[in-house]
Amino acid sequence: MSSQPWVVLKFGGNSVADLQCWQTIAAITQQHLDKQLRPLIVCSALGGITNKLENLIDAAINGGHDKILQDIIAAYGKLAGELSIDPQIYIKKEINELSQIIVMLAQSRVLTPFIHAKVLSFGEILLTKLGAAYLQAKHFPTTWTDARTHLKSIEFTHSHAQSKYLAAVCDYQKDETVIKQFNAMTTPVVLTQGFIASNARNETVLLGRGGSDTAAAYFAAKLMAQRCEIWTDVPGVYSANPHEIPAARLIKSLDYDEAQEIASMGGKVLHPYCIPPLKANAIPMYVGYTRLPQRPGTEIHSAGRHEDAPIKSILTKHQVTLIQIETVQMWHQVGFLADIFSYFKKHGVSVDLISTSETTVTISLDLKVKGQDQNIITALLADLNTFCKATEIGSAAVISIVGHNIRSVLYKIGAALKIFEGQKIYLVSQAANNLNFSLAVDESQAKELALKLHALLIEENVNKKVFDKSWQEEFL
Ligand code: ADP
Ligand code: ASP
Ligand code: MG
Repeated sequence: MSSQPWVVLKFGGNSVADLQCWQTIAAITQQHLDKQLRPLIVCSALGGITNKLENLIDAAINGGHDKILQDIIAAYGKLAGELSIDPQIYIKKEINELSQIIVMLAQSRVLTPFIHAKVLSFGEILLTKLGAAYLQAKHFPTTWTDARTHLKSIEFTHSHAQSKYLAAVCDYQKDETVIKQFNAMTTPVVLTQGFIASNARNETVLLGRGGSDTAAAYFAAKLMAQRCEIWTDVPGVYSANPHEIPAARLIKSLDYDEAQEIASMGGKVLHPYCIPPLKANAIPMYVGYTRLPQRPGTEIHSAGRHEDAPIKSILTKHQVTLIQIETVQMWHQVGFLADIFSYFKKHGVSVDLISTSETTVTISLDLKVKGQDQNIITALLADLNTFCKATEIGSAAVISIVGHNIRSVLYKIGAALKIFEGQKIYLVSQAANNLNFSLAVDESQAKELALKLHALLIEENVNKKVFDKSWQEEFL
């Protein structure tokens, strides 16, 4: 068995939610066993639980956490019931541990990033304890393993504590230690958690919200897996978020760079950090629909690019922070941008998009990826305002048009831009990698604008070699 290649199968929050999901997980796993592959199943927390754990932390600090804690325990109790697993045997210890941490937090009312990460990790831990027990009892011998013993975070000296604990990163070369650890496991199937890793001091760290995809990619890279499959609540990567634009079409295949751009510009279906580990090791990726596993999804690999349709996707990033920096002295001034960016570095804030004129620089930030909050922006603005006028533009969204060779189709985008007449565009950016063209607009206008752009650029002339059925055609 130890010579069999690994396949990593990641199941998201809505894909682990009930008995039917677990029957599907068992069936998909069995198909891979039949192909002589060794499955490593990577699971998220039960859908919505990580948000509830965030609320639990707030409630512990501000009073009245009991009801939320009971809700969380009840959600896992319900799943255990459906899977015919006794929660007293499999998750009592972990629930007691979580309860104790919350009691301590309610007493101290001091939230450190260390406690924050620890509390959020319970969503994945509780879920995988139940999942492994179910597979073991009903399907095949399964080893439960703690992801924190395999995934070790890299600590950059310039990283802030919040990023180190809540948005950690790991390296992703082939890892002989991890291969040995996994080969020593004697069952055909192994199950572990997404989202969590540990640092050099063996403390729990998180890979950022939505980071279970990235955990799966790290495991695939370290084990040099044959394939990494992301099983989720839609059939694959679409030409837009199908829950916002029902006419969005399933994209049959993508190359890594296109997938990276979709993930980075708001395509939540893939966590932005999950592509590099797979691209670097040429591991093919697949995105599939847990509720309908036989429905072909999106294949992502180095030859996945389809030249026929340069525009693949219209994406919206909501609640984006925009900072406008003005100075009268910028024209021909040497080092102004360097001065600005030294403060971004100081506060650990990375820049998403940027556009500059003689007197104004507009910058968009994605705080969610790094688990950062408004306090960081307040401190950054205070520093910037010591030498220029820096303001935050409230409630913006970034709409991105993504596809390879976007420059060759700018004339089409030009026609589509007519719909922006009368709207405020805060920032326009054509990415240097030639893969996206982005506009920052008011959040209130974003949905309508994205719908129109999708209609003009994707729906008007659908290329059936590239796109499959639309969400509304198939599911509404
Ligand atoms: P999981 O819990 O399985 O990781 P996520 O909620 O993180 O699932 O990601 C799946 C969701 O991503 C979909 O339900 C959909 O609303 C959203 N999404 C955003 N953009 C896209 C896109 N381009 N294609 C598919 N889904 C998208
Ligand atoms: N449970 C984590 C979250 O909700 C990780 C994930 O689902 O990918 O962010
Ligand atoms: Mg996700």
